[in-house]
Amino acid sequence: MPKERVHNFCAGPCTLPVSVIEELAAELPDFRGSGMSLIEMSHRAADYDDVHMETLSLLRELTEAPDDFSIQLIQGGATLQFAMVPMNMLADGAEAGYVVSGTWGKKAYADAVTVGSVYQAWSGGDSGFTSMPSTGDLDVRPGSRFVHITSNETIGGIRMPEFPDIDVPLVGDMSSDYLSRPIPWPKFDVVYGGAQKNLGPAGVAIVFVRQSVLDQAPESLPAYLAYRTHHEGDSLANTPPMFTIWATNKVLKWMRESGGISAMEKRAAERSARIYGTIDTSGGFYRSPVDEACRSHMNIVFRLPSEDLEATFLSEAQAAGFENLPGHRSVGGIRASVYNAMPDESVDALVEFMSDFAARNG
Ligand SMILES: *Cc1c(COP(=O)(O)O)cnc(C)c1O
Repeated sequence: MPKERVHNFCAGPCTLPVSVIEELAAELPDFRGSGMSLIEMSHRAADYDDVHMETLSLLRELTEAPDDFSIQLIQGGATLQFAMVPMNMLADGAEAGYVVSGTWGKKAYADAVTVGSVYQAWSGGDSGFTSMPSTGDLDVRPGSRFVHITSNETIGGIRMPEFPDIDVPLVGDMSSDYLSRPIPWPKFDVVYGGAQKNLGPAGVAIVFVRQSVLDQAPESLPAYLAYRTHHEGDSLANTPPMFTIWATNKVLKWMRESGGISAMEKRAAERSARIYGTIDTSGGFYRSPVDEACRSHMNIVFRLPSEDLEATFLSEAQAAGFENLPGHRSVGGIRASVYNAMPDESVDALVEFMSDFAARNG
């Protein structure tokens, strides 16, 4: 790792493999001998098309998505999917349940309310969004078109340890644990997430849409908002975010070389366990506010005995080369986001810093 790289625990955009950053920098001025950079060429050029189509096939390979899922690269982030999902799936008047498990589940529900007939299949608001429901906690109305879940709530720092086991298809916002756990395809009709948490820079959502959803979507939608458009045009219906897709392509190759989703899953479990272990063995100095069974493997939130100590922790951490450790502005505290590309050395350094800080201030 070059000396000038900090330990970047940002919740999104995420730290990326330094090898990917270096390759992008080296290849930027003259892409494959074309005499121009990739971001200056036509998105219809053969050189770009190679990158684009390879990205789609890398996604299928890594996720093992079955053939009846269309893989789409759509601008607007995960946020646009909050609207596109109900627009494409609820136009015939069907209703859908939403699991409101935190800030992101709440936003998905709020957008869906403006589009279709939706209800809350569960709400964690009473507990302050510190745990996830199990299947038995869900209130799923018969005939629901889908149930929307957020697999990992990035701000609350909670994850669904198991996906719900219900008769209704799931739609999953997997932004912040994307490709860090297997996706059980038979349960899902749509899976989506912004690239910038685990897979690349901001600028694109990666969306998996089951063929039956494409077939049912209304004809009346504006073209960009219809999944059918992105399916039929191989996500080239308009100018795609070429730099983001190129960078994501390199991250996906890095993931494949690193052992794919199963290796990412194992590493995330081990690394988060080390940080939680530091919290749990600190004699109460550090405290995790979330239900132990639902602790996120990606976004580890914790508190110190006082807000003053939290401020000292954060300023000393920053001086020691740790960036982006403050919790989300809506909840405070500390949040260490340990996405796929986080180097092990940064986790080692954080654990050591935490132990040392507790010994000096506990
Ligand atoms: C960051 C995030 C979003 C929003 O993603 P954008 O790509 O910025 O729109 C949605 N859901 C979850 C779980 C997130 O972590």
